[in-house]
Amino acid sequence: MSSVNSLSQYPWFAHRLLEWYPRHRRDLPWRHTRDPYAIWLSEVILQQTRVKQGLPYYLDFISSYPTVQDLAAAPQDEVLRHWQGLGYYSRARNMHHTAQQVVSEFGGHFPGSYAELLKLRGVGQYTAAAIASFAYDEKVAVLDGNVFRVLARVFGFTQDIAAPASRKVFQQLADNLIPAEQPAEFNQAIMEFGAIQCTPAKPDCLFCPLQTECYAFQHGMVQELPVKSKAKAARTRYFHYLVLRHDDTLYMRKRGPKDIWEGLYDFVLHETESAEFSAASLVKAVESMGGLVATNRVEEASTAMRHVLSHQKVEARFHPVWLSEPLPSDAAVAAGLLAYRASEVERLPKPVIITNFISNSVF
Ligand code: SF4
Repeated sequence: MSSVNSLSQYPWFAHRLLEWYPRHRRDLPWRHTRDPYAIWLSEVILQQTRVKQGLPYYLDFISSYPTVQDLAAAPQDEVLRHWQGLGYYSRARNMHHTAQQVVSEFGGHFPGSYAELLKLRGVGQYTAAAIASFAYDEKVAVLDGNVFRVLARVFGFTQDIAAPASRKVFQQLADNLIPAEQPAEFNQAIMEFGAIQCTPAKPDCLFCPLQTECYAFQHGMVQELPVKSKAKAARTRYFHYLVLRHDDTLYMRKRGPKDIWEGLYDFVLHETESAEFSAASLVKAVESMGGLVATNRVEEASTAMRHVLSHQKVEARFHPVWLSEPLPSDAAVAAGLLAYRASEVERLPKPVIITNFISNSVF
């Protein structure tokens, strides 16, 4: 394994990457701009999202909100609706808040340095480094999953990349490698190299410009590096939704804080420890919604729909309930429900699992 202090003697690393990059890079819209707003937008969207999935979202956001002022002024529901399907909704809420912070605290201009960018909500070391280098040519190395992997393999670093202490070591390593003259190009190059050449499962070692120096390749450790401790097994949560309907009206509620999908809309929810939800429980639940069960039509529950999140799995079943009369307003208020017509439901930001259920149902 290499020593961090000795890395400045490896100029070949930047040199070969910078040769490789112009010949292999993908032509992506955020690579044609120095606008910190557009760069920030692309970075927020691409965190934990593949380029192919994130690209249409980026194009949608930049055309719907061409400036940070436009994004700051948009209603949160609308922003979440544009974000719908990307997951990690706290990123969208933070992004919206950050846009407002840029407008209210920085006069609508993004802070002009790495240190200042870190003052923005939701902007961590990675995003600040990306904006500072891509927009302002500041010499600060980015560290994302791709960069961790490339560095661990090439320099034979065996630290667990998921351990917080490793970040310092890798940051020091990356800061030693980044050339002062081309920080933006270098950061783009190393991230792109990790994304398309030194990939997690099948890196293209045969045609790799770093092959002769690569520790992992030379020691037969490509599949062992980087070392990453396993995340805790995701727990399964069982959601039973009561889908209350009257004529063409659907009753929905906005989800609150401290749980997944904050700010998105779903139905009355009963969460249980297992997939079981007896008919008696359902009747009791509907009764608690205003005593309408005797005159209601309760349909068979849908088959389970599953959604995998980063730390949990959701197994949802939907129990459609036709109301013979509108829900009494006190019952609706108590449950945090509002009545929406089909055209209004379409415009609400919703978890994918709710959107899929609605589009598979007859309204
Ligand atoms: S030789 Fe293989 S493991 Fe090493 S940097 Fe190249 S692609 Fe990655």
